[in-house]
Amino acid sequence: MSKTSLLCQRQLLHYLADGDFYSGQWLAEQLGISRTAVANYLNELKQHGLGIFSVKGRGYKLAHAIQLLDANKIKILQPAGSAQILVQHVTDSTNCQLLQRLQAAQVLEPGSVIVAEAQTAGRGRRGRSWYSPFGTNLYFSCYWRLEQGVAAAMGLSLVIGLAICRLLKQQYQVECKVKWPNDIYASGKKLAGILVELSGQADSGCDLIIGIGLNVGMPEQSQLHIDQPFTDLRTESSQQIDRNVLVVQLQQQLVAVLQEFNQSGFARFVNEFNQYDLYANREVCLMAKTPISGICRGVDKQGGIIIETADAIDTYYGGELSLRAGG
Ligand code: ATP
Repeated sequence: MSKTSLLCQRQLLHYLADGDFYSGQWLAEQLGISRTAVANYLNELKQHGLGIFSVKGRGYKLAHAIQLLDANKIKILQPAGSAQILVQHVTDSTNCQLLQRLQAAQVLEPGSVIVAEAQTAGRGRRGRSWYSPFGTNLYFSCYWRLEQGVAAAMGLSLVIGLAICRLLKQQYQVECKVKWPNDIYASGKKLAGILVELSGQADSGCDLIIGIGLNVGMPEQSQLHIDQPFTDLRTESSQQIDRNVLVVQLQQQLVAVLQEFNQSGFARFVNEFNQYDLYANREVCLMAKTPISGICRGVDKQGGIIIETADAIDTYYGGELSLRAGG
């Protein structure tokens, strides 16, 4: 996107953010551009999933008032000494953006974050996509350095889930559960997803990119894009959510938990994790090469999932496994 397009879209959003009607003519005058250009810029935002409509004689209006991510506000909200948070408008994927920076040998401070208003290629696991409409959710990627090497990454993904659950409970009174190994649920529906990507040697330190997609306010048409039940914070919490505050809280909570993890590993989190386990003591099916049905008995000290079948109690490891409700 050119710099002019970006500036014009941000300016238009600045006016429309309050959810009131604004005529195309008036918007065009404010920006010093044509009405057609206004229509084109807004149409582009609509393509990125922003709920926006126009009514003849009245103009344009957002389906919901929005609050844009604001790099300056975020900086003011961050405690002194925090790692940088970079705000992007529309990006392919915040994980890709961090990865590119690592590959270009940019020096990143652990805890550095990139957030974006929308992703055009948001990713889940195994090539699945993460629906990332503009301006209402959180698409958040954080750089971290794992000194224990790749082997510890299993537990790390769980610790991130735990950090999100802690934060949403403490600050927004939302009771969440983790679906091993990477999804956050509230009211039995998917609220957030985690995608940890890493590069490095098996036994020496490695660079991690921790991607989090957290639904804050999903637009009405979202069910057309997602093939399973989902929810958002606007539905689950009675509190107003300020996304700029949420970004800072999430960075703080993550960094605190990750520091604890780097020092002591996953073992100290096992009990707490098991309290947040979506399938604790329920029948599950582990979607492996040969699916395994049994009762979920939580996780072990490395973060592997323990499943009790008629014949045995076994533990399974691996970031590519999936659990489904069984029975
Ligand atoms: P698994 O148990 O293997 O993690 P999953 O279907 O939850 O299964 P993920 O890779 O974690 O897979 O997440 C991608 C899936 O999440 C998509 O295929 C879609 O069903 C769902 N999804 C995509 N975007 C969103 C979103 N914004 N909110 C909630 N769910 C979403």
